[in-house]
Amino acid sequence: MVKVAKFGGSSVAGPEQFRKVKAIIEADPERQIAVISAAGKRDASDHKLTDLLYLCHAHITYGVSCDEIADTIFSRLKGIRDELGLSYDLETEFGKLRSRLNRDIAIDELVSRGEYFTARMMAEYLGFKFVDAAECVFFGYDGELDLGKTYEAIDSAYKRYGRIVIPGFYGSLPSGKIKVMSRGGSDITGAVAAAAVSASVYENWTDVSGILMADPRIVKDPSPIPEITYAELRELAFMGASVLHEESVFPVREKGIPLNIRNTNEPDHPGTLITDSVQAAEDSERFITGIAGRRDFSIITIVKRNLSVDLDLKTVLEILDRYHVPTEHITLGLDSFAVVCSNESLGERLYDIIKDIRSGCGPDSVDVQDGVSLIAAVGRKMNSRPGIAGKLFGALGQAGVNIKTIAQGSDELAITVGVDNSDYETAIKVLYEGFAG
Ligand code: ASP
Repeated sequence: MVKVAKFGGSSVAGPEQFRKVKAIIEADPERQIAVISAAGKRDASDHKLTDLLYLCHAHITYGVSCDEIADTIFSRLKGIRDELGLSYDLETEFGKLRSRLNRDIAIDELVSRGEYFTARMMAEYLGFKFVDAAECVFFGYDGELDLGKTYEAIDSAYKRYGRIVIPGFYGSLPSGKIKVMSRGGSDITGAVAAAAVSASVYENWTDVSGILMADPRIVKDPSPIPEITYAELRELAFMGASVLHEESVFPVREKGIPLNIRNTNEPDHPGTLITDSVQAAEDSERFITGIAGRRDFSIITIVKRNLSVDLDLKTVLEILDRYHVPTEHITLGLDSFAVVCSNESLGERLYDIIKDIRSGCGPDSVDVQDGVSLIAAVGRKMNSRPGIAGKLFGALGQAGVNIKTIAQGSDELAITVGVDNSDYETAIKVLYEGFAG
């Protein structure tokens, strides 16, 4: 059995964090593959290596010297190496990079060096073999990950060396050039590595003890979610919870590999376990797994006597599509229907859209309510349990929160309510305190 452990930037921010990573790896001999981010912030006023590298590139582009930033990066790395007594020849390696900083170094190659150097030192510190992502993570001509080739390369490196460290966030293009992923991309590398070796678990080590049940800026000390399904996670992510991105989840989800979010600073905490279906005893009375929400939506209501759902709804959806405005929800009445869209996607196009709806559907009226927040209560246990929606709406009503729209998918995984932006925080607190906490 092999476990893949990915460590995020804050988990490798300095020598102290390197020590914690080593203790975690050594505590379980199955942790044989480590995927490493670039050193992140040590405290709130610090900078991530990746940000400094992007800054370096911006300086080069504008013809301004980046010497000082390069010095800062070098001394961060040197500090880790010296404190841990490593022998990695940073002077030569970093010197080579430095000598190319004023020529036309490609941005992707430059910013990938945060992961490269951090992982090189981590490999030496752990006594694992360093396997460069440029040699085992591949993109195709379309710029998408070439999963087949990548799986094969990672699997054969693992079989060959046994215990390996792979830098996250980058790989190589068919031309051999380095390409980086989107920010936070080491999560993707970790998932791909776990899928490549059919790991028993993909551990994603970060600085929180799992996914929280609600936004801690709104709810004080929300509890972490012990177990959640991939489907629930998708609902929470869709509704704005800051959790892992779809891209970084699908390789492990596809292979049925559980994903465990853990805290490097609290290694004994079990964190959040994400699986296809939660088997554990579902004894708790809690039926909400998590709550998430997003502000600033508009509800466009079309009123028309003798409404034809087939024609009129189709026309409105086509109009929105023409303006590239995604529809978040639809509610249907007898003589009216409403679509919910984000203000961000509507923007100034709203007026043209209304004009087109008027001419396309000939409605009695079109009404727009903006300043609406959508809040989703997500929970697999809501399925087939009567009375839950009533309880939720009752609690919101008692708190004086007016519900403007309601949606529940037929899989009964989430109940989404639309409330006034000014009720956003109250609604989240009421749902958390009443049903989740
Ligand atoms: N270092 C990269 C970033 O800051 C990638 C990562 O940490 O996952 O976005």
